[in-house]
Amino acid sequence: MAEGFKKVSAVRGMNDLLPDLSYQWEALEEVLHRWLHLYGYKNMRIPILEHTRLFTRGIGEVTDIVEKEMYTFTDSLNGDSLTLRPEFTAGIVRSVIENNLLYDRPQRVYSIGPVFRHERPQRGRYRQFHQLDVEGLGFAGPDIDAEMILMTARLWKMLGLTDVSLELNSLGQLSERQAHRAALITHLEKHRDVLDEDGQRRLYSNPLRVLDTKNPAMQEMADAAPKLFDFLGDESRAHFETLCGHLDAAGIAYKLNPRMVRGLDYYNLTVFEWVTDKLGAQATICGGGRYDDLIGLLGGKPAPAIGFAIGLERLLDLWLQSQEVSAPAQCDVYVVHQGEAAGRFALQLGEELRDAGLNVLVHAGSGSFKVQMRRADFYQAPIAVILGDSEMTSQQAGVKVLRRDGQAVQGEQLDVAFDQLTNYLKDATAQTEE
Ligand code: ATP
Ligand code: MG
Repeated sequence: MAEGFKKVSAVRGMNDLLPDLSYQWEALEEVLHRWLHLYGYKNMRIPILEHTRLFTRGIGEVTDIVEKEMYTFTDSLNGDSLTLRPEFTAGIVRSVIENNLLYDRPQRVYSIGPVFRHERPQRGRYRQFHQLDVEGLGFAGPDIDAEMILMTARLWKMLGLTDVSLELNSLGQLSERQAHRAALITHLEKHRDVLDEDGQRRLYSNPLRVLDTKNPAMQEMADAAPKLFDFLGDESRAHFETLCGHLDAAGIAYKLNPRMVRGLDYYNLTVFEWVTDKLGAQATICGGGRYDDLIGLLGGKPAPAIGFAIGLERLLDLWLQSQEVSAPAQCDVYVVHQGEAAGRFALQLGEELRDAGLNVLVHAGSGSFKVQMRRADFYQAPIAVILGDSEMTSQQAGVKVLRRDGQAVQGEQLDVAFDQLTNYLKDATAQTEE
């Protein structure tokens, strides 16, 4: 039937999450939701596709993302240029403006989901990956800047991560960046010979980004470049110093990294990254910053804002390195049955047990008792209920304890009357999981 059809594989850099590993993501997401609620953040869901113009304007023309990482295509039905979201902030801001969400108060929101960037796939770097994005819109800070950093520090604590450290910088305001820019260009021109292709191209279009380079040959030149921090005026400095004061008071260690400019164009004042040396070359698990000009830039009534994004593949990788996360049992009870009447009763019993809050797998399909019991064992069911012709006649089910605390045990098979089965199994489940 499949003749002439070449099997389809997944797009490179885009991964399936298979059923035997999904519990890891679910466990992580559970912690994330608990943590977000501790800080009063509300969920927001935005489309995966947006008009390309949103990102070119919102992220900036001369950035890695817009220059070379976006999945952009023309909608053949109407000729629109659309782009798979490479990050959340631009889309969230678009929605906040469109729905007038800041008209009477600021907003704390978060979003979780896939984002897309055409990069070279490797550990911790994929073409479809997942971000948790957190935004505080309408807040001028620096109190919320501090709260966001405390918040991320709490997450690492909740997850038991210790090998993460905080890097901090201030990008000041536009006028301060412009003064720095002139001095920076002079410096870059003097060292033109060490600039790589990106560096040459960005010399005049986005010189600040040249300093963000990971090219080892350019490190010395970048270290010696004039520091934006030295061009900050009193207000910007005060913002930064107040933030540092809050962090000091909370006992959060940080390192000032004057070269950190972050990947996106729209940041000002506070920028920060949490980095680790446990993930090879992909060191950043969380990056964020203030973007007071973005809402205005995208056509909204200007309002300050700050946000951060966490790469969830990297966070999970780090978490699993530091912690044993075990798979929960897929069921409390496995129902084994043979014969027509037993099969009918098994389905009904399954529903009854679920009404009582138990997780139940009713054997589906055929198979001898032996095969079905093997299946129960495969699913690591703590208890098997056995129903056959003789059980239907006596109105008593066979009940066998297979595991206690996840360990296999040699239990005896007991007979339990049908009308006591639900209560019996509820109690037995509580005991096997103590
Ligand atoms: P990097 O310097 O590693 O390319 P970035 O500055 O491009 O990161 P952001 O745009 O700040 O990253 O995205 C926030 C987070 O998303 C990063 O800190 C990282 O954890 C994660 N991330 C970024 N790109 C990828 C990717 N291609 N695959 C997996 N995770 C990623
Ligand atoms: Mg990147």
